[in-house]
Amino acid sequence: MDKEKLAYFKELLLKQREALLEQARRTMSSLSQEGEEVPADLADRASLEAGRNFLLRIRDRERKLIAKIDEALQKIENGTYGICELCGQEIEEERLKARPVASYCIECKRRLEALEKLQKR
Ligand SMILES: [Zn+2]
Repeated sequence: MDKEKLAYFKELLLKQREALLEQARRTMSSLSQEGEEVPADLADRASLEAGRNFLLRIRDRERKLIAKIDEALQKIENGTYGICELCGQEIEEERLKARPVASYCIECKRRLEALEKLQKR
Protein backbone atom coordinates (compact mmCIF):
# COMPACT_ATOMS: atom_id res chain seq x y z
CA MET A 1 0.00 0.00 0.00
CA ASP A 2 1.41 3.41 -0.90
CA LYS A 3 1.94 6.29 1.49
CA GLU A 4 -1.07 8.28 0.34
CA LYS A 5 -3.45 5.40 0.97
CA LEU A 6 -1.87 4.69 4.34
CA ALA A 7 -2.35 8.33 5.31
CA TYR A 8 -5.97 8.11 4.20
CA PHE A 9 -6.65 5.05 6.33
CA LYS A 10 -4.75 6.48 9.27
CA GLU A 11 -6.98 9.55 9.14
CA LEU A 12 -10.06 7.34 8.90
CA LEU A 13 -8.97 5.27 11.90
CA LEU A 14 -8.13 8.31 14.00
CA LYS A 15 -11.51 9.86 13.27
CA GLN A 16 -13.30 6.64 14.16
CA ARG A 17 -11.29 6.39 17.36
CA GLU A 18 -12.18 9.94 18.36
CA ALA A 19 -15.89 9.32 17.64
CA LEU A 20 -15.83 6.16 19.77
CA LEU A 21 -14.16 7.91 22.67
CA GLU A 22 -16.74 10.66 22.49
CA GLN A 23 -19.50 8.05 22.46
CA ALA A 24 -17.93 6.25 25.42
CA ARG A 25 -17.75 9.48 27.37
CA ARG A 26 -21.44 10.09 26.73
CA THR A 27 -22.28 6.51 27.72
CA MET A 28 -20.40 6.94 30.98
CA SER A 29 -22.05 10.22 31.87
CA SER A 30 -25.52 8.79 31.20
CA LEU A 31 -24.61 5.80 33.39
CA SER A 32 -23.73 7.97 36.35
CA GLN A 33 -26.88 10.03 35.89
CA GLU A 34 -29.01 6.90 36.01
CA GLY A 35 -27.34 5.78 39.22
CA GLU A 36 -28.65 8.82 41.01
CA GLU A 37 -32.34 8.29 40.44
CA VAL A 38 -33.66 4.77 40.95
CA PRO A 39 -37.44 4.59 40.48
CA ALA A 40 -39.48 3.02 43.29
CA ASP A 41 -41.65 1.11 40.86
CA LEU A 42 -40.20 -2.38 40.25
CA ALA A 43 -41.14 -2.49 36.57
CA ASP A 44 -39.36 0.78 36.04
CA ARG A 45 -36.38 -0.50 37.94
CA ALA A 46 -36.25 -3.62 35.74
CA SER A 47 -36.24 -1.57 32.58
CA LEU A 48 -33.61 0.70 34.04
CA GLU A 49 -31.43 -2.33 34.74
CA ALA A 50 -31.94 -3.56 31.17
CA GLY A 51 -30.98 -0.14 29.90
CA ARG A 52 -27.86 -0.14 32.01
CA ASN A 53 -26.85 -3.57 30.78
CA PHE A 54 -27.33 -2.33 27.26
CA LEU A 55 -25.06 0.63 27.89
CA LEU A 56 -22.43 -1.55 29.50
CA ARG A 57 -22.52 -3.87 26.52
CA ILE A 58 -22.05 -0.96 24.16
CA ARG A 59 -19.16 0.22 26.24
CA ASP A 60 -17.58 -3.22 25.97
CA ARG A 61 -18.03 -3.16 22.21
CA GLU A 62 -16.53 0.32 22.07
CA ARG A 63 -13.59 -0.81 24.14
CA LYS A 64 -12.94 -3.75 21.84
CA LEU A 65 -13.25 -1.62 18.73
CA ILE A 66 -10.86 0.99 20.13
CA ALA A 67 -8.36 -1.78 20.80
CA LYS A 68 -8.75 -2.94 17.19
CA ILE A 69 -8.24 0.58 15.92
CA ASP A 70 -5.05 0.91 17.99
CA GLU A 71 -3.88 -2.38 16.52
CA ALA A 72 -4.57 -1.13 12.99
CA LEU A 73 -2.73 2.12 13.70
CA GLN A 74 0.21 0.09 14.98
CA LYS A 75 0.15 -1.87 11.72
CA ILE A 76 0.27 1.35 9.73
CA GLU A 77 3.38 2.29 11.70
CA ASN A 78 5.16 -1.00 11.12
CA GLY A 79 4.05 -1.40 7.51
CA THR A 80 1.77 -4.43 7.82
CA TYR A 81 -1.52 -2.59 7.45
CA GLY A 82 -3.95 -3.98 4.88
CA ILE A 83 -2.38 -7.44 4.83
CA CYS A 84 -4.56 -10.41 5.70
CA GLU A 85 -3.37 -12.07 8.92
CA LEU A 86 -4.31 -15.49 7.63
CA CYS A 87 -3.22 -15.73 4.01
CA GLY A 88 -0.82 -12.78 3.75
CA GLN A 89 -2.60 -11.32 0.73
CA GLU A 90 -3.60 -7.68 0.53
CA ILE A 91 -7.06 -6.96 1.89
CA GLU A 92 -9.45 -5.46 -0.68
CA GLU A 93 -9.40 -1.68 -0.54
CA GLU A 94 -13.19 -1.45 -0.68
CA ARG A 95 -13.37 -3.70 2.35
CA LEU A 96 -10.91 -1.53 4.25
CA LYS A 97 -12.89 1.57 3.39
CA ALA A 98 -16.02 0.02 4.84
CA ARG A 99 -14.14 -1.48 7.78
CA PRO A 100 -10.68 0.01 8.32
CA VAL A 101 -9.93 -2.33 11.24
CA ALA A 102 -10.38 -5.47 9.11
CA SER A 103 -7.51 -7.87 9.67
CA TYR A 104 -8.58 -10.57 7.21
CA CYS A 105 -9.38 -10.48 3.50
CA ILE A 106 -12.96 -11.15 2.52
CA GLU A 107 -12.28 -14.75 1.56
CA CYS A 108 -10.59 -15.65 4.85
CA LYS A 109 -13.32 -13.80 6.76
CA ARG A 110 -15.98 -15.87 5.01
CA ARG A 111 -14.11 -19.06 5.80
CA LEU A 112 -13.78 -18.06 9.46
CA GLU A 113 -17.47 -17.26 9.70
CA ALA A 114 -18.37 -20.59 8.14
CA LEU A 115 -16.15 -22.31 10.71
CA GLU A 116 -17.74 -20.38 13.56
CA LYS A 117 -21.18 -21.45 12.41
CA LEU A 118 -20.08 -25.08 12.36
CA GLN A 119 -18.69 -24.83 15.88
CA LYS A 120 -21.90 -23.38 17.22
CA ARG A 121 -23.97 -26.35 16.09
ZN1 LIG B 1 -6.87 -13.85 3.62
